[in-house]
Amino acid sequence: MNEFFSPGKVYVIGIGPGSENQMTLFALKTIEQCQVIIGYDTYIDLIKHLLKPSQEVVRAGMTEEVYRAQKTIELAKEGKIVGVISSGDAGLYGMAGLIFEVLHKMQFPGKIDVQVVPGVTALISAASLLGAPVMHDFCAISLSDHLTPWNTIEKRLVHAAMGDFVLTLYNPKSSRRKEQINIAQNILLQYRNPENPVGIVTSAYRPDQNIVITDLNHMLEFPAGMMTTILIGNSQTRVIDGKMITPRGYQKKYQLHQNIQDIKKSDRMNITHEPWALQKEKQNSEMQTGLEINLMKNIPKRVLHKYYIKTKGSLNQSSADSEKILNAGFLSVLGKFLSTDSRIEATPDGRLFLLCHEIDIETMEKLDSEGLYLYDDEEYILIKTCNFCDGEKPESLVWLDILNKSLADIHVPGQLHIGFNGCGMSCHGAVMEDIGIVYFRGEFEVYIGGKKMGRNVRLPLHTHLHLSGEEMISIVMNLVARYKNEGFEKEKFFKYILRVSGQVV
Ligand code: SF4
Repeated sequence: MNEFFSPGKVYVIGIGPGSENQMTLFALKTIEQCQVIIGYDTYIDLIKHLLKPSQEVVRAGMTEEVYRAQKTIELAKEGKIVGVISSGDAGLYGMAGLIFEVLHKMQFPGKIDVQVVPGVTALISAASLLGAPVMHDFCAISLSDHLTPWNTIEKRLVHAAMGDFVLTLYNPKSSRRKEQINIAQNILLQYRNPENPVGIVTSAYRPDQNIVITDLNHMLEFPAGMMTTILIGNSQTRVIDGKMITPRGYQKKYQLHQNIQDIKKSDRMNITHEPWALQKEKQNSEMQTGLEINLMKNIPKRVLHKYYIKTKGSLNQSSADSEKILNAGFLSVLGKFLSTDSRIEATPDGRLFLLCHEIDIETMEKLDSEGLYLYDDEEYILIKTCNFCDGEKPESLVWLDILNKSLADIHVPGQLHIGFNGCGMSCHGAVMEDIGIVYFRGEFEVYIGGKKMGRNVRLPLHTHLHLSGEEMISIVMNLVARYKNEGFEKEKFFKYILRVSGQVV
């Protein structure tokens, strides 16, 4: 006998979908070496053709997990090599944790070794049948509330939806639990597009296997049960040629159809090609209340580069028009680096641009260290706040902070300005921004689609009143998600909302 398989040791074995073709070699070998195999009836049936007559088999029904764990430990104590089987992976909703817990509680003198033998969990099996939906950050949530309080599950669903994870739902439905999946869909629809791709796989790699690719809006129209795994894509997931694919992000840096890439190999890790990276993101959030600079147009375009400039600021520092000041310190910093033909110009709403010769990375970093950040595209979300009466009306700040954090990782196709005012005076004109948020007597009002200047000047197209903080965040995040997914490249929000007005409310 292989030394690894020693008497009195417990092996918690993940058998994957059950057939030896989809089982890890480690699991197969371990089943072969065990003197006793313990498992749930259905799982024993799945592997019974792998068992030898000499092997003792202990079967137990559903809800007898604790008995299985206790029996496993008793048999190991007798010196037997014991294998307890779980479908999928034993360490993911399987028997591994319970074995360790029961072992600890039973306090046997001496030591019983436990080896967890990994298996292929349902989310991996299902993903392989759907295409490549789990190519990015993901999480798994079981909708079974037999052992987990439902409000905990609901909270996890909300945060997974907000976090734009690829989400796998285990145990979506059973003969007794029918409502949970409806609630899960409702929560997801608050943060994701109704067209968000969804894969439903039942009995992966088993004879009655069934695969459906649908979307969030229609997912409840298909059968689901305890053998079903539901994969909900993130906001980037697409159905391509009948397969569900979640892009890893290569398309943002590379040309997937070209042999020769635009970015040289030696330059591919440079952060200028990664505006979404931590350093850039920090700068983005710092500049959300900052200044923009618009510099002159009469320098020949071919030699000029257009930059947006933001200064460091915190959320409760105002970005109101009257306070859009590029102070002497920042001017002096800029002066150190810019040539004399560079120009700065303020737009009517106090935003600022810079037109100048292209600035090298080293200089960019120096400017950044001084609190000035240069960036060269218009794809960003700007939150314009009032000054909350110099901090004397702070009631809504907690929600501003939540909104700011929720938006931090989101890249939109064009400009989106969000106004946030701390009381019904709305003295900084939030209601006329792309999305205007006004805190009024303990509630929020959300105004959508206003435009306060230019040829398209108009009142807001949609208004939501008497909202709780959660409702306000939900409406804004849903709207931003739709703009992100449906907006054309460089399409500003005010144009997008006009194009889809009537659908997005
Ligand atoms: S909108 Fe209200 S809270 Fe904000 S600065 Fe004006 S009066 Fe103060």
